[in-house]
Amino acid sequence: MAVHAQLMMVMALDKCIGCHTCSVTCKQTWTNRDGAEYMWWNNVETRPGTGYPRRWEDQERWQGGWTLDRGGRLALRAGGRVKKLVTIFGNLDMPVIDDYYEPWTYDYEHLVTAPAQAAPPTVTPRSQLTGRPIDLRWGPNWDDDLAGGLQPDDPALGELEAEMVRRYEQVFMFYLPRICNHCLNPSCVASCPSGALYKRAEDGVVLVDQDKCRGWRFCVSGCPYKKVYFNHLTGKAEKCVFCYPVTEDGRPTVCSQTCVGRIRAIGVVLYDLDAVTEAAQTARPEDLVEAMRGLLLDPHDPQVAAAAERDGVPHEWLAAARRSPAYALAKDLRVALPLHPEYRTLPMVWYVPPLSPALDALTAAGYDADDPDEVFPTLDDLRIPRRYVANVLSAGDLAPVDESMRRLLAMRVMMRRRRIGQAGGRAGAEGGLSHADADRLFRLLALAPYDERYVVPRSRREQAGVRDPGRGAPPPEAGT
Ligand code: SF4
Ligand code: SF4
Repeated sequence: MAVHAQLMMVMALDKCIGCHTCSVTCKQTWTNRDGAEYMWWNNVETRPGTGYPRRWEDQERWQGGWTLDRGGRLALRAGGRVKKLVTIFGNLDMPVIDDYYEPWTYDYEHLVTAPAQAAPPTVTPRSQLTGRPIDLRWGPNWDDDLAGGLQPDDPALGELEAEMVRRYEQVFMFYLPRICNHCLNPSCVASCPSGALYKRAEDGVVLVDQDKCRGWRFCVSGCPYKKVYFNHLTGKAEKCVFCYPVTEDGRPTVCSQTCVGRIRAIGVVLYDLDAVTEAAQTARPEDLVEAMRGLLLDPHDPQVAAAAERDGVPHEWLAAARRSPAYALAKDLRVALPLHPEYRTLPMVWYVPPLSPALDALTAAGYDADDPDEVFPTLDDLRIPRRYVANVLSAGDLAPVDESMRRLLAMRVMMRRRRIGQAGGRAGAEGGLSHADADRLFRLLALAPYDERYVVPRSRREQAGVRDPGRGAPPPEAGT
């Protein structure tokens, strides 16, 4: 066992209000500059929807992430070194600017310099790449709040598409904020011919060494989440840096700090580096969620603590791992799930699935809305189909989604019973949740106190690379 520490984020999708504050504050901090106009290291998608870049989940088209070869071993979906050499000047799996959108701005000056006229002056959109007027046809949030109708082009809809189009008046939606997942088995790192991408040993953040990057862009096509971007001015790749200058100081990322819905939690998780490949090679995609949970080590286990100390995990980090909201939501309470585990990159941003309003569904399905325990039969009647959530968060397997939703419903019922002074009920047993667990879940998701949802220890950079020189110590200067 080789114990490593990783900063992990969990987002509770029920609480996202789609305000895009996270995207805007991230942009102001990191990509508000030339060459980065089209980049949204944090973006928020309305689901169902095609996302950003368009249809990023269609790995038949983009060939991102990992697959298993005939022997059951991990292989980059886009092919190995020989294929890269052959396609180095013509990579057909690369998204082009139109797949993202052509960034534009407006001729604001005209508003104050236009001559007096009968009608107020209007502004013309102009391309930020060419400066010329642009006919707007697509943008990073074009389908926000289902604008323009249900997006039949969403790969996650699958067999639900015909049914959803038919039941359009009962359409569902939720928001999916996305950043780089700082994966445990990052295909972007494995795809880079120059060795420019690396995963920091001390906190698991995946970065691009700007000095080493030669602009081949195999990281862009290799990332199945399309979270590496190419700066056309510098000729280098860029990506989310998990706000490392801020987290090194023991504070949460900018997107988390500014999240209006308080949907995000950040904490340390410990994992066994020696078990990563085996977990990523799990034969059945449906078993990947459990394999990932198995990788996360219990920081209260004395054997894990001793191994962490032996492997150089600082004391503060071990203490933080014991208070980690991310570990609690993903492993202990089993409500958070990884985004598209079937890509086998082992993402470290997980999501608590959205529950649509349960009471309406309960009444419509003919159950006694006054009996809180009757809420469980409504799982099948919830407006957001579990199948859709499973296609996004559990490789299509309904079991982990059901387990998470039952626990979330149980927590709601148990807290409601307590509020109205009703003892007992079978909610805890139905959801497999003790009263103590319901309290923890309620604190983390409903109250979400700042110090409990962000447990980020200060960095011990002076120890970085010393404890584990054989595993690729990070370069001295971290670039974007
Ligand atoms: S999500 Fe981030 S770490 Fe994972 S493969 Fe993509 S760029 Fe790499
Ligand atoms: S700031 Fe928070 S609530 Fe607003 S869109 Fe971003 S993740 Fe959702």
